[in-house]
Amino acid sequence: MLPAESAPFGTFFVPGPTEIRPEILAQMTRPMIGHRGRAFEAMFARIEAGLRDVFLTSRPVYVGATSATGFMEMAIRNAPEGAILSLVNGGFSERFAKVAESCGRRVERIVVPWGGTFNLDLIEERLAAEKFIAVTVAHSETSTGVLTDVRAIAPIAHLHGAFLIVDSVSGLGGAKLTVDESGLDFVLTGSQKALALPAGLAFAVASAEYVERAKKVENRGFYFDIVQYDSYAAKNQTPSTPATSLLYALEAQMGDIGREGIERRWDRHIAMRDATIDWVKGMQDRRGVELGIIAPEGARSPTVTAISLPAGMTAKEVREAITARGYTVGGGYGQLADSTFRIGHMGDHTVDGVKRCLHACETAITELAERRRLVRV
Ligand SMILES: *Cc1c(COP(=O)(O)O)cnc(C)c1O
Repeated sequence: MLPAESAPFGTFFVPGPTEIRPEILAQMTRPMIGHRGRAFEAMFARIEAGLRDVFLTSRPVYVGATSATGFMEMAIRNAPEGAILSLVNGGFSERFAKVAESCGRRVERIVVPWGGTFNLDLIEERLAAEKFIAVTVAHSETSTGVLTDVRAIAPIAHLHGAFLIVDSVSGLGGAKLTVDESGLDFVLTGSQKALALPAGLAFAVASAEYVERAKKVENRGFYFDIVQYDSYAAKNQTPSTPATSLLYALEAQMGDIGREGIERRWDRHIAMRDATIDWVKGMQDRRGVELGIIAPEGARSPTVTAISLPAGMTAKEVREAITARGYTVGGGYGQLADSTFRIGHMGDHTVDGVKRCLHACETAITELAERRRLVRV
């Protein structure tokens, strides 16, 4: 695989959208084909096979022309009647709670501070105390860079008769996730994060039981009806017009991901994360600038790191200084907007590419620190 940096237009280390290789972008100029014909169905079958190898599932993978938030809504609209328990540890897991509320659900939250992780006993206590139909959780919480062990939560949810709904928008394709083996009931992601594709597609897997139960859900809506998605997937089609140009890019990317192998892809992401963490830790010794990592050790996402800045340095000026050196990193998100910046080390980037980005970050931040006399050597 070519390093993503070969793209002629600046280098994106944003936690979505991520850098897309030019040969993937070029696929989108292929001519149209009808979406109810043989050629389309053959392409869709190849795409499905690739996606199943990424989700590690034998279930169909639904492909929607929507941003990932649409499929968050899909998860809720199709869930059986009942209250939702949302595990909230950052901006995107809070979004899931809001999506559920806006669909008319009663939502209870287990809230931990941003950057925090969940105590499994506490989750168990809440589920034992009250009946919930589903639990929502962010696998990789993109606002803080915290990775949640969703595999450990699944049996607890099931023990109490609740489905586990997983937002793996910045996880899937970068951070290890095994849908079938972990017993996850609904998992969704988007195209523009670790899958390194243009924005505009969402993907989801629902367990057979989830789809069966959905059939009895009234007013589950039309566009995100998983019963429709499921029956069309069986014919290698989508219920309404697919974003065919985006599917061309997806088909090519599935081929490349298959050739890399999902396990090697996970390993590459861990290596990119570790390079980032080592860099953060070394900034104090090398440059006298104290940076911090929001996510605690043992719960750091392989795809995104939120880095705290010394007092007096703002995320805005840091990003601008890094951009001036040819790299685009992410700003802080939500309540961490001013005090952190985020590096999206995900998608098709390499460890060497991440190191070049970190080098640019280092010069930019050191210059800012010197200018403000924050250096305490
Ligand atoms: C980006 C992101 C979303 C939202 O995805 P959209 O494609 O913008 O709708 C949701 N959850 C997480 C964890 C994300 O990183």
